[in-house]
Amino acid sequence: MIAVTYAQGGKLHLEDIPVPKIQEDEMLVRVQVTSICGTDLRIIKHGHNKLQTGQKIVLGHEFSGIIDAIGKRVRNYQVGQRVAVAPNIGCGHCDQCLEGRANMCPDYSAFGINFDGAHAEFVKVPASAISQGNVMPLADGVSFEEAALNEPLSCVINGIAACRINLGDTVLIFGAGPIGLLHLILAKLRGVGIVIVTDLINSKLDMAKRLGADHVIDPQTCDIKETVLNLTQGKGANVIVTACPVHSVQEQSIELVAPFGRICLFGGLPHERPKISINSNLIHYRNLIVTGVTGGSNYDYRTGLKLLALKKVDLMKVVSASYPLSEGYDAFQAALSGNEMKVIMNPHG
Ligand SMILES: [Zn+2]
Ligand SMILES: [Zn+2]
Repeated sequence: MIAVTYAQGGKLHLEDIPVPKIQEDEMLVRVQVTSICGTDLRIIKHGHNKLQTGQKIVLGHEFSGIIDAIGKRVRNYQVGQRVAVAPNIGCGHCDQCLEGRANMCPDYSAFGINFDGAHAEFVKVPASAISQGNVMPLADGVSFEEAALNEPLSCVINGIAACRINLGDTVLIFGAGPIGLLHLILAKLRGVGIVIVTDLINSKLDMAKRLGADHVIDPQTCDIKETVLNLTQGKGANVIVTACPVHSVQEQSIELVAPFGRICLFGGLPHERPKISINSNLIHYRNLIVTGVTGGSNYDYRTGLKLLALKKVDLMKVVSASYPLSEGYDAFQAALSGNEMKVIMNPHG
């Protein structure tokens, strides 16, 4: 089968590898749609601390498909079932796992990060993922494309919960990439007052407008602080989301938030330079909450599928390109260019 692989410390390859063999407690999923994530791009550029030097994996953790084969000890699933699979698997024993937050497990493993993922024609689902409920059947009205994109949606569901949005709040989102736009879509669902989105790329700001942003700001032509203060009668935003890995944005967000405001640092900074400089008195005197999230839980994933089944969110709006997996190398080049929103691949089409 064709697969997009990466070896730690090396390069991306499109290659022909054997279809995985499954054990009695595993299943094989025929991948219908697999989506390229910023995490894939980061692994290609910087490697991943869960991989040994030279260790090769099939990338891809945002996917949906059809169950192709199940081991004889697997219960509650059938061959032919349409499914999406949450990618993070916890140890099952630590405090975070017992809270249902396998994405926070110190020992988590994940598709396409430390074992073979879904940028392939078929993907093997390990026993632990089946027993922890990661394999979720799709409602009839949910397409494979939407289901693959449910993974980033589930992470943003986690992020939006951390923002504690109240009715009528002003929300400022830094970054109009797919993650910023998903925050915009979910913030609107939560009954916010106004949403302001800022980005350096105008086409992305246009997309934010089409998705319902009340104001968009290009910081190259417009002062963010002045605009935000003007729009909020000098108070600042109630909620700020940093959906970009930029030091100055994190620093600036502390200056732009209203008393009792919440800041969610969604985009992490590069591991080799994670420090910022802020006036911490602003947090103290304004009673701020500065938080962050990484990934989403299986429950967040299920919530995303529920929103999709109810047609509450339209994820197709964040897809900008679609490739057959046989052109996976080109798909990755497009994603790496930074000009695309979500790039999806079809292994069998
Ligand atoms: Zn992802
Ligand atoms: Zn755990």
